[in-house]
Amino acid sequence: LMSRVYNFAAGPAALPLPVLEKMQAELLDFNGTGTSIMEMSHRGAVYTEVFMRTRETLRRLLNVPSNYQILFMQGGAIGQNAIIPLNLLGGSRKTIDSVIAGAWSLKTQKEAARYVSSADAAPIIANSDDGQGRFTHFPEFDTWQCSAESAYINICTNETIHGVEWYPSREVSDAVHASGSFFVADMSSHILSRPIDVTQYGVIYGGAQKNIGPAGVTFVIVRDDLLDLQHPLCPSAFNWRNVANNDSMFNTPPTLSIYIAGLVFEWLEAQGGVTAMAAINDVKAKLLYDAIDNSQLYRNDVQKPYRSCMNVPFFLNDESLNAAFLEQSAAAGLAALKGHKMVGGMRASIYNAMPMAGVEALVAFMQAFEKNHG
Ligand code: PMP
Repeated sequence: LMSRVYNFAAGPAALPLPVLEKMQAELLDFNGTGTSIMEMSHRGAVYTEVFMRTRETLRRLLNVPSNYQILFMQGGAIGQNAIIPLNLLGGSRKTIDSVIAGAWSLKTQKEAARYVSSADAAPIIANSDDGQGRFTHFPEFDTWQCSAESAYINICTNETIHGVEWYPSREVSDAVHASGSFFVADMSSHILSRPIDVTQYGVIYGGAQKNIGPAGVTFVIVRDDLLDLQHPLCPSAFNWRNVANNDSMFNTPPTLSIYIAGLVFEWLEAQGGVTAMAAINDVKAKLLYDAIDNSQLYRNDVQKPYRSCMNVPFFLNDESLNAAFLEQSAAAGLAALKGHKMVGGMRASIYNAMPMAGVEALVAFMQAFEKNHG
């Protein structure tokens, strides 16, 4: 226990310590079965109970209405970038709109473009790239050049690399719904960080390995009326209708990852759920952004209303200090602060599992480092 560090990795990311301890305690003999959870049939009574409880806890945490299915799949968010068009392009609408606010939404758009008839059927309808690959805000709704009849609109509500976070207002999602379209939102890196209104989206998806659990399971929350729009070539194992009808067991699900996600969900409920998490996350983020803004050495260029509460990229104004910063922070027990290679600098990912004390330790380190190198 003494050797554990504060882990600021973007994902796979830190898990709550009580979850790891429970895993450890249950590993060799799950509930008196004499086997571990990963050594038993996914169709047996013991695992079925774990699975159902996990899915119900997620439904409660996010207040997912009964007309939305929760699917646990494989392939990650990048897999869904292909699976989504294969599930949604079988209807009469054949255009996929995308709003770009960072690297992940651009990746989604590029994949979507492979499944439409021509490049102009997957238009970028708004883009906040400043021309140099920097993103400091989410495109304002009044700048979006929405297609007349889009099948759906891709958004990534938290850009993990660029640190840009945004949720549509009710007004915006109502306007999208009124146009006959809907949002498909990649929420990989901030799902469960605060309450959301699921009804503002047609589909919410993401990988688990940031705020949910280990890599290997992908969550998809999809409105019932969108379950039957498959392209004929959609693989059976990735066909949402098949997956939904089979309680995510059309094929063998990632049983271990789902079990651990369930432990995280129960930990979240014990913390007071996503409302309580949001309050803590806001304090953690403010502490770190204030430290950055009040320093001469550190900088974050994202406009304040769009600053991510989960992924905080920051730069040292004197980049020659980067190596020393990384070396000394690691020595101080602050791990994985190196920024994504696409943007450089530093990044602190402060998901739900990062305790306040971890952010306090980071801020104290940053201030001491600045003093020593000022
Ligand atoms: N979308 C976002 C917002 C992400 O942060 C990531 C992972 N960093 C991905 C997609 C890709 O997820 P995966 O590797 O699980 O496919």
